[in-house]
Amino acid sequence: MSNRIARQSSKTDAAGPSIETKEALRLLQNYEETRQGWFWSTDKDGNLTYVTESVAQILDKKSIELIGTPFTQLFVDTQQSDENQRTLPFLLTKRSKFLELQLQAATSNDDVRWWEVSGSPQFDHFGEFSGYRGSGKDITSQRQSAQDTAQLAMFDSLTGLANRAQMSKKLDATLSTFQQQKRTCSMMLLDLDHFKTVNDTMGHPAGDMLLKQVAKRLLKAVDDAGEVGRIGGDEFQILLPDWEDRGKLGELANTIISSLSQPYTVEGSRCIIGASIGIAISPFDGLSSDDLIRSSDLALYAAKGSGRGRFQFFARDLQQAAEDRKILEDDLRDALSREEISLHYQPVVNAKNNTVTGFEALMRWNHRERGPVSPAIFIPIAEDANLIGPLGEWALQRACADAVKWPGNVRIAVNVSPIQFADARLPEVVKKALKSTGLAPARLELEITESVFLAETDETDDMFKALKDIGVRLALDDFGTGYSSLSYLQTAPFDKIKIDQSFVRGATEPDSRNGAIIAAIVALANALDMETTAEGIEALDELEWIRELSVSHVQGYVYSMPVKDEDVHKRFETGDWIIMPEGPAKQRSDRNSMFRKVKLIHENSCYDVMIRNLSKTGALIEGLVDVPVGTKFVLDFGDGQIAVSTVRRSMGQQQGIEFEQRLVDDGNGGLCTRTRISPYLIAAAGMEVPNMSADFYAKKRDDWQHKSIPSFYTTDSWKAG
Ligand code: C2E
Ligand code: MG
Ligand code: MG
Repeated sequence: MSNRIARQSSKTDAAGPSIETKEALRLLQNYEETRQGWFWSTDKDGNLTYVTESVAQILDKKSIELIGTPFTQLFVDTQQSDENQRTLPFLLTKRSKFLELQLQAATSNDDVRWWEVSGSPQFDHFGEFSGYRGSGKDITSQRQSAQDTAQLAMFDSLTGLANRAQMSKKLDATLSTFQQQKRTCSMMLLDLDHFKTVNDTMGHPAGDMLLKQVAKRLLKAVDDAGEVGRIGGDEFQILLPDWEDRGKLGELANTIISSLSQPYTVEGSRCIIGASIGIAISPFDGLSSDDLIRSSDLALYAAKGSGRGRFQFFARDLQQAAEDRKILEDDLRDALSREEISLHYQPVVNAKNNTVTGFEALMRWNHRERGPVSPAIFIPIAEDANLIGPLGEWALQRACADAVKWPGNVRIAVNVSPIQFADARLPEVVKKALKSTGLAPARLELEITESVFLAETDETDDMFKALKDIGVRLALDDFGTGYSSLSYLQTAPFDKIKIDQSFVRGATEPDSRNGAIIAAIVALANALDMETTAEGIEALDELEWIRELSVSHVQGYVYSMPVKDEDVHKRFETGDWIIMPEGPAKQRSDRNSMFRKVKLIHENSCYDVMIRNLSKTGALIEGLVDVPVGTKFVLDFGDGQIAVSTVRRSMGQQQGIEFEQRLVDDGNGGLCTRTRISPYLIAAAGMEVPNMSADFYAKKRDDWQHKSIPSFYTTDSWKAG
């Protein structure tokens, strides 16, 4: 257009503007007035000789005031702006033509305006440069929507967190630079527990509001340590550059889990969810982003499998564990029909007079190849695989059928999974079991865990009412392991509170408040006319202490292990069953007794030793003979986990050793070293950066060992010699 004006105007001199030219001018004027675009021209020094009025208005000026000022002053200061703004003066001095430069208008207020500007240098008859002519148009709204689209492509619209695509870009970029710089990077994969239940019972809009609150809490917990993203429904990812200390990672994971497990208020109702976290660390658990994601995914799967509300570090044997779990799930499908499932009954004893008042039915699975599988393993599998319904129904039926043959007032307690509790058919299932066996409803007790209170809904209240209407008793199981809120005790019609063994066990630790809490629970239970049962009592000192706290009933090895139905009958043949408590005088310390083979490295020699017990600060090892106190060596737990150790006590073939650096929780009841030997270090020693195969560290360890004369006898060579 500007070229056209230039050409046309050059023809006007003598005869005045032609009709054609006048028409063109009118069109252009029209174009300017509708604000679709604007025109400008300068002299050879770059000062404006013409500019459309609308441009001046945007800059809060009159166009006449702009004439004679530098063209570049129409735009934001060239120093602080983007690339285009800097190139404009350069193009002008070079007298180059430019097309569609995006420039920000130098508005006097906060109103951000963008123009797209084109210009061509003009030359007179003698070929001398005479200035510029050009056009511009406002592109503020296009730029905004382009930015919005970019934003949408990178961020999750619900929570405002980075989305999957953005996170994976970040991860790729971080890992590839970090690999060159030999830095570490951790990845947490987080999945909400029970989110689906809340979403289903309270509705999707409520679910969305919950997710927003989750995102807020996550950002607060992670702060500026890393990047948080939402990568799907209730899955989040946290990228933590330069994090590798598993002690610190475990602490952060616990902070996140406890923050997300606090109650939420959504649309005026209260609800509770939890979170599980899988953690993988590059380069140890994967060099590429695919590997790191796969590792954190496996760790998350394991965390969920071992009871939810936990974190879990990736470990090489998790792959095997995941496969095992899949096989168990398949086998569990026909365990009932193969008659591999049975019930054992553990006595519940009146703590005052040692009389058995009832039993808890505990499910047992005798796997055809593996032998007994713990319910702590197969019940969660059954819950995930939709098998808990039939198994639970079978247990109710079986337990009622057995109990009806026991003496008159002895009660039977049956565990009910939260999944059964959420199924509206449960009251019918209970009625059917009672009716077909003839057991009096008052003799049946259903054990329910706190997780049924996840979402405060009418359905929960209705279920409680329907069960109470049948006349069965209700017990709150595993108190002290979950949210431990006393508020629902007032509204839910429980007849009994069962205090979990971990809570009892914790109470004997020096500065534990559990004792005071148990006393408060007992007082509350008495006031509300509920019984209390302490679970998992093993030692006589624990029993004594529980009695002092006035807990009414006890269930634990100190009285009896779970027994078979036949044994229950035998014991009752002589009237009441009274059990004298028996057990160790004191609860043993929490040192983990174990038999675990590890490598011990001392001056270029490598020995096999057995760990007999392990704590955060040290271990008892077995396998070497007469090692002097003060000897230093390295324990190699595998997978790059090494602990520098000093012998503190030496007793023939056993040594008590102390670690230079404390071990940390592995999130799964075990311990691990804070840090591992980096594959980068190994690479620095002249070996290739590994593709981390399972036996990578084992191979490297063998490579390091130059065989020399060992300093110690091993128990094998000692016995042989
Ligand atoms: P729970 O309902 O809390 O059951 C008590 C657990 O503590 C049982 O473990 C019992 O054997 C164990 N226990 C009792 N006294 C002692 C003691 O003195 N020391 C120790 N260390 N443990 C003791 P078990 O049989 O392995 O069951 C584990 C969990 O599996 C149960 O915890 C329950 O949540 C679940 N479960 C078992 N049977 C069923 C069932 O039929 N249905 C459902 N839904 N869950 C079941
Ligand atoms: Mg129970
Ligand atoms: Mg329990």
